[in-house]
Parts: sequence; structure tokens; C-alpha cells
Amino acid sequence: MKQVAILGSTGSIGMNTLDVIRNHPDRFKVVALTAGKQIEKLAEQCAEFKPAIAVVSDVNGAASLSKLLLDKQIKTQVLYGPAALVAAVTESNCDTVMAAIVGAAGLVPALAAAKAGKRVLLANKEALVMSGDLFMQAMKQGGGELLPIDSEHNAIFQCLPNQFTKNPNPSLGVEELWLTASGGPFRNTPLEQLADITPEQACAHPNWVMGRKISVDSATMMNKGLEVIEAFWLFGLPLEKIKVLIHPQSVVHSMVRYRDGSVLAQLGQPDMRTPIAYGLAWPERIEAGVAPLSLTQLAALSFSEPDLARFPCLSLAFSAAKAGGIAPTVLNAANEVAVAAFLDEGLPYLRIPEVVEKTLSAISAANADSLEFILEVDARARKLAKEFICKH
Ligand code: NAD
Ligand code: MG
Repeated sequence: MKQVAILGSTGSIGMNTLDVIRNHPDRFKVVALTAGKQIEKLAEQCAEFKPAIAVVSDVNGAASLSKLLLDKQIKTQVLYGPAALVAAVTESNCDTVMAAIVGAAGLVPALAAAKAGKRVLLANKEALVMSGDLFMQAMKQGGGELLPIDSEHNAIFQCLPNQFTKNPNPSLGVEELWLTASGGPFRNTPLEQLADITPEQACAHPNWVMGRKISVDSATMMNKGLEVIEAFWLFGLPLEKIKVLIHPQSVVHSMVRYRDGSVLAQLGQPDMRTPIAYGLAWPERIEAGVAPLSLTQLAALSFSEPDLARFPCLSLAFSAAKAGGIAPTVLNAANEVAVAAFLDEGLPYLRIPEVVEKTLSAISAANADSLEFILEVDARARKLAKEFICKH
């Protein structure tokens, strides 16, 4: 029986994880659940899965959750705040952690899971983008297993030789990783219409149902840029060997090209329960509740190069990846601020790349060599990005 903690259980990945677990009560026991603000949803999850610990962001949320649980006679211990997110990982007796908090807020508990030697199911790509080196070192030090949940990285993990991530031996002949991208809702939108894009339009992804932040990132293709950086850290290949292909059907989730001419691909429905079930059960495979893929019912599968003029965020991410050091931390922080401002404060869609670019240029290069420094850079970049947004 695996003991599972879910960081971000009320989000899109969190709920899909619980959906897989719900169908396998003989294999998985939920021991900790955490959420930001959706207290009622978390209370329902606690009533169903009866975890030992539940964590929310603040004291008011904790009081509301405690009351709801008392009414339902559920004995889950309620904690709150960033340190409690770490406690959910280190003090819940879990062996498996789903890291599915969105954004930089997920970094510290994901690192705690890595250091503690847990099996880490990593959805929270921002953690790797901000601090890839530290995160991979923490995994090594802890000795646990890292299973990528992002569909592209999960696909690549499936197409690589066994244990490639632990021993990327050149004799295994891995030449390139090909990350596929749908191109989002604006792949063919006339460029002059992009200025008026609303949050609702940006969040209406053609193939995937996801949280709002990653949906906007998919529309700008910043998401694919973050994923290139994520792949760099996960699989240890040089950046020049990580390619992006537009594949609007989202059926081929990514590919690996080998020296001998073979290209291995993983195909499936665009449904995150497949990579989640894979990570939960690895190396076994379990029922995920996903409809079987029928190739004969699909129209043609197509692939093309991304258009960097249409997607300046992808270009910015490539530059930050190349620059290395703290540049990806700055890119991520500025993007989080700009996307939040677009979603909640009416920042025009086309100003997202502008804010990211200005913030990147304003912070000088440095190595990302400690968590304290990375968090300091993250805070500095957020402050600057907010100033750029206000000044306009
Ligand atoms: P979401 O917005 O639906 O859910 C985010 C979760 O994090 C929620 O439970 C929320 O309560 C929690 N949260 C947010 N801010 C928090 C804070 N400050 N402190 C504590 N908890 C907080 O997001 P999502 O779509 O589920 O994505 C989660 C992560 O997985 C992201 O990093 C995303 O890039 C990655 N991911 C998602 C998908 C997908 O299909 N949704 C696919 C690949 C990768
Ligand atoms: Mg992805």
C-alpha cells in the first residue's frame, strides 16, 4: 500500500490524482492533502479520503476547514502556512508525493520531498525551472525516485532506456528529445487580433483542461519554454538536443530520437490521468480511467516548427535557458507576475512577454547556487515585474 501526499489537491492535477487513486483503494492511501484557498473542496476531499493531515494557506482558512471537518466528524489534523506544507511531506508518513502546487509556491515542499527520499511525482515544473540544479541534487541526496508528470516529460521518460535519468550513458545512443506542443488556442489567430485577447479566450485550451496559469502559459507558449528547461534538468542532455515541435492534435506526447535512426514516441489521449497513473504505479501499469486511443478515428497527425515571432515568450525562455544561472528563475517569476496581472488586473495579453523581457534585462547574471539566493532573486524579479506593470 503506497502512502500518498498531494500538494495542491484541489487543482486540476490534484483532482485527477485523486480520481486515479479513488479507483485503486487497495494500492493507495491518501495521508496528506493541501490546498490554497478552496476550503470547501478540500473539506469534501478530507471526508472522502480521510488523510491524517490537511494544510491550507492561512489561519482563517484553517479555522473554516476545522469547522467543516468537525461538522462532518472527520479527525484530520488541520495545519496552515508554508512550513505546514513541508510538514505534510515530512510528518505524514507518506512515501509518495504528488507535487502539484502551481508556481514558485510549490518549490520548498517539493524540495523537502526530494531531500526526504520520497517518490516525487513532479507536476510543478516551475520548481525545476527556478532551481533545477538544487532540485536534482536534492533528489540524488535523498535517493528517492523522480517521476515526471508533465505529459511531455512523462512521454520522454517512457521512451528512454530504463534508468536513463540515473545513468545517461552515451552508449545508449539518445540523440535528441522532441517536445510536442499543441500551439494553444492562438496558433492560427491573426496577429492583429492578439492585442484584444481576454483571459477567457486564453484559458480555453483546444485539447487540455488545466489550471488558469498553465492555460495562459500554453497560449503564449511560455509553457513549452519552461518545459525545455524542465527537460534539460530532468534528462541531462545539452539544450541543443532538446527540440520543440508543433503538433496540434496532442496525441503524440513527445519523442526520443536515437543514433540508429529510431524515433520512439508515446501516444495517448490528452488526459493527465495517464501520466499520473504511470507515476503512481511505476514500474507497474494500472487502469487510469482514460478512454482507449483509436488511431483510425483520428484525422492526420501533423508536425511543424514553432513560429517564434508569434510566440515571443518561447524565444525568451530559450534565451534564459541558454544564459543559465538565475535567468530561468527571473523568467519564471516575471512570467508568474505578468500572467496573474493578465488574469486578474487587465494587463493586456501582449504585455506579458514585454514584462518578462524587461525584468530579464534588469537583473544581472549570477549563479543559482543556494535556495536562499534563488528565493531572494525570485522576490526581486517579482518586485521589478510589478513595477514595470504599474509604470505603463
Ligand atoms: P491549478 O491552478 O488547477 O491548481 C493549483 C493547486 O495549487 C491548487 O490546489 C491550489 O490550491 C494550490 N495552490 C496555489 N497557490 C498556492 C499557494 N500559494 N500555496 C499553497 N497551495 C497553492 O493548477 P494545475 O493545472 O493543477 O497545475 C499544477 C502544476 O502542475 C503546475 O505547476 C502546472 O504547470 C503543472 N502541470 C499541470 C498540467 C495540467 O494538465 N493541469 C499539466 C502539466 C503540468
Ligand atoms: Mg506539458
